[in-house]
Amino acid sequence: MDMMYSEADLAFQDEVRRFFKENLPKTVREIVRKTPSYVSKGDMVAWHKALYEKGWIAPAWPVEYGGTGWTSTQKHIFSEEYGAYDAPRLSAFGITMVGPVIYTFGNQAQKDQYLPKILNGEELWCQGYSEPGAGSDLASLQTRAVLDGDEYVVNGQKIWTSQAHKADRIFCLVRTDPDVKKQEGISFLLIDMKTKGLTVKPIISIDGGHYLNEVFFDDVRVPVANRIGEENKGWTYAKFLLGHERTGIAGVSKSKQKVKKLKEIAAIERSEGGAMIDDYAFKSRISKVEVSLSALEITNLRMMASLAGGGNPGPESSTLKISGTQIEQELNELLIEAMGYYALPYGASQVRPDANEPPVGAEHGVGLMSERLLRRAASIYGGSNEIQRNVIAKGVLGL
Ligand SMILES: Cc1cc2nc3c(=O)[nH]c(=O)nc-3n(C[C@H](O)[C@H](O)[C@H](O)COP(=O)(O)OP(=O)(O)OC[C@H]3O[C@@H](n4cnc5c(N)ncnc54)[C@H](O)[C@@H]3O)c2cc1C
Repeated sequence: MDMMYSEADLAFQDEVRRFFKENLPKTVREIVRKTPSYVSKGDMVAWHKALYEKGWIAPAWPVEYGGTGWTSTQKHIFSEEYGAYDAPRLSAFGITMVGPVIYTFGNQAQKDQYLPKILNGEELWCQGYSEPGAGSDLASLQTRAVLDGDEYVVNGQKIWTSQAHKADRIFCLVRTDPDVKKQEGISFLLIDMKTKGLTVKPIISIDGGHYLNEVFFDDVRVPVANRIGEENKGWTYAKFLLGHERTGIAGVSKSKQKVKKLKEIAAIERSEGGAMIDDYAFKSRISKVEVSLSALEITNLRMMASLAGGGNPGPESSTLKISGTQIEQELNELLIEAMGYYALPYGASQVRPDANEPPVGAEHGVGLMSERLLRRAASIYGGSNEIQRNVIAKGVLGL
């Protein structure tokens, strides 16, 4: 791959490496290496701010709104180094999701109010789309917003709201007209999490962690000024956002990190007669997933090049979501298999950054089961993979 890089690209690669080396504390890298989903809010925000101060927080945004203006190759180099240095995953809800909606469809006052705090990490966002009766069939959502003077009064419930307990704001789909075709009566609101009547209840997931929540709206008053674009046109903005969400979900550099870790562990762990890495059947499964990952990487690069040329991620981004999550889940399975029985004694408390008990079995097994259990949901969140196949059938293949 290096052979493709120009001298300027190689100089850029050096600069990125230097920056990561000088600005990413070893302790944080260690937490990410062991338990990528358990980085604390403080460590995540500190890393966000470091990238912001360097001007590197939003490579995909247009330069006028704070983007880097990098070429596709530079973006690729940055993402490669990001994975190689075990840098914390940042919250995608602001930079990847609602930011592009605001700069594309928001008015000047909204851009001025929200974009700077998304960029500098001062405000974290969460996504209020799904409801108990509206997941795959999102347009059936029932959370109601009724106009009262210059405010909407919002009542209803969202569910599976990732990181709502850490967020400052939520972007929400609400029903503003119940009497029209369901897609035509939805609006897109930006809501302060501290607003009276809004409550957050935790959902503890199968790995024992707290990422998910229910969010309840009980006569929550939201200024009309917080509505993106036109009333009842929210479905258009919602779909635009989902395209961006699914592109981010490909997770190429994250999966590359996992391949590296898998090979390290498989070189240590034993199967009958030798190291796991020398077991023919196991090795061929690693190779197969690596080949799929290379194909995903190329597809992702093609998509990035098209975005750089002014395109928007359309239904094609669904292919990235499907392949990316399948690869991630296969890698998690292989990591568990490489550890054998020692992957099983799993205590949720072990994967907390502040855990102080010695692990059962080798240290490199810590966090693997938690990651496998948590990411089992990767083929569900962001729109389930079955739904993505429907999107491809209609939007790409024209069936
Ligand atoms: C870990 C996690 C984090 C999440 N984070 C968020 C978040 O931050 N914000 C948010 O708004 N939502 C979030 N979600 C919700 C997520 O988007 C939904 O779970 C998802 O869209 C599926 O909806 P559902 O759970 O209602 O399942 P259902 O829609 O009830 O689907 C159940 C099953 O039926 C299948 N199915 C449904 N319809 C069809 C069809 N037409 N054709 C073929 N198969 C079909 C689905 O693929 C699935 O396997 C999260 C979910 C999880 C698990």
